[in-house]
Amino acid sequence: MKIHVCGAGGEVTGSCYLVQTSQARVLVDMGMFQGYAKADEKNESLGAVEPAQLDAAVLTHAHIDHAGRLPMLPARGLRCPVHCTPATADLARILLADAANIQAMDTERENRKRERRGEPPIEPLFTDSDVEAVCNRFNPLPYGELRQIAHGVKIRLVDAGHILGSASLEMTVQENGSTKTIIFSGDIGQSHVPLLADPVTFDHADVVFMESTYGDRDHRPLQQTVDEFREIIKQAAWNKSKVLIPAFAVGRTQLLLYYLTEMLREGSIPDIPIYLDSPMAIRATELYGKHQGILDDDTRRRHGEIRRGFERVNYLVTPAESRALNERWDPAIIIAGSGMCDAGRILHHLKHNLWRKGVSVVLVGFMSQGSLGRRLIDGAERVRIHGEDILVRARIHTLGGLSAHAGQSALLDWFKPMAASRPMVVLTHGEDRARTPLAEKLRTRHGVDVRLPVNGDVIDLSARPA
Ligand SMILES: [Zn+2]
Ligand SMILES: [Zn+2]
Repeated sequence: MKIHVCGAGGEVTGSCYLVQTSQARVLVDMGMFQGYAKADEKNESLGAVEPAQLDAAVLTHAHIDHAGRLPMLPARGLRCPVHCTPATADLARILLADAANIQAMDTERENRKRERRGEPPIEPLFTDSDVEAVCNRFNPLPYGELRQIAHGVKIRLVDAGHILGSASLEMTVQENGSTKTIIFSGDIGQSHVPLLADPVTFDHADVVFMESTYGDRDHRPLQQTVDEFREIIKQAAWNKSKVLIPAFAVGRTQLLLYYLTEMLREGSIPDIPIYLDSPMAIRATELYGKHQGILDDDTRRRHGEIRRGFERVNYLVTPAESRALNERWDPAIIIAGSGMCDAGRILHHLKHNLWRKGVSVVLVGFMSQGSLGRRLIDGAERVRIHGEDILVRARIHTLGGLSAHAGQSALLDWFKPMAASRPMVVLTHGEDRARTPLAEKLRTRHGVDVRLPVNGDVIDLSARPA
């Protein structure tokens, strides 16, 4: 049995594994490479994945760095089902449709440039109809149920606590009379975060493919972050000014809405209107209602109260509603995409407000190099938005503790129940500076064999005794 590491080897994007036995070929995730110049080129090649040869595919969660290249597969011969949780199926439809939209716009812009240079046009990686084709192959599998997906291959999905519907995958593979258990962690969330249930652990494995995004550090305690957030909102209400929060549509947006509506309910912040200005985030938020059965105990128990909180939020669907908000100066909290301020409706809000004293911008989560969000964190005095120079007079706040990923200690805790079975550990979905310290900790604490593969490496399990 061999497992090809086709992506996320020493980087956080492009998650993709191919499990190959003498009787079956199973794909686990087919993510997009993102965030650097050569990403487009890498996305075009499917590497070791031959879609027509696959017996099954499994998707751990809807994020584009895990699902983003699935739509390329049906046109290249994919005929098998794609197994994922029901919530992932719903969420992936939304995120992939958005990705197709971005592809279409980027390709159009690139082709206008190419035409002016006299070069031939390029094609997008996939279109709307490719998204439709792959979504029709989704075969929902609720958490905890066992399913045979190929000859000698059974799977079970458990909650990974990372985003709605996210899963860790247990794969049991039988080959030549021996049985092996392979765990794919997917992306592992933090425990004790509102709305989502905590990550579920395993107690036995032969091999563990484990994410290592924050393998080198722990996050700030969540409560500290929430206290800081409350102070920012109180201060802004006192100043009668706007608070702008760029946020990712799935996960962080709902967490922020939860905290804000809870603060309103408790009366710990003044009554100030909250706007969610992102059609995609609105649709993602609706899915939390549809799939409330998989949310954490507290959310299910208080679901009526939490829903009433969310009903106080103003949901802006049309561009006209969004524009109307630009022209208003009264205090408001506005959550809009995109998370790193590099596209979307947040840009209009920033353009209309960054130059105004008293306005607060709250940046949550990771801002990649070169993004507008990063320039604001770095203290830029002026920024360029839509070709216009904008003075930065607003106060820029960063909130550290709201990551959707487990920090180092939590990753070690997640692994611990499996340690006694002494699995081989393969660290992926992390840069070397993050996964190397985690590897050291795992080796010294548990004496396990830890591998740090690069893309294209093959982990050969037939050489390992059962
Ligand atoms: Zn993820
Ligand atoms: Zn990921």
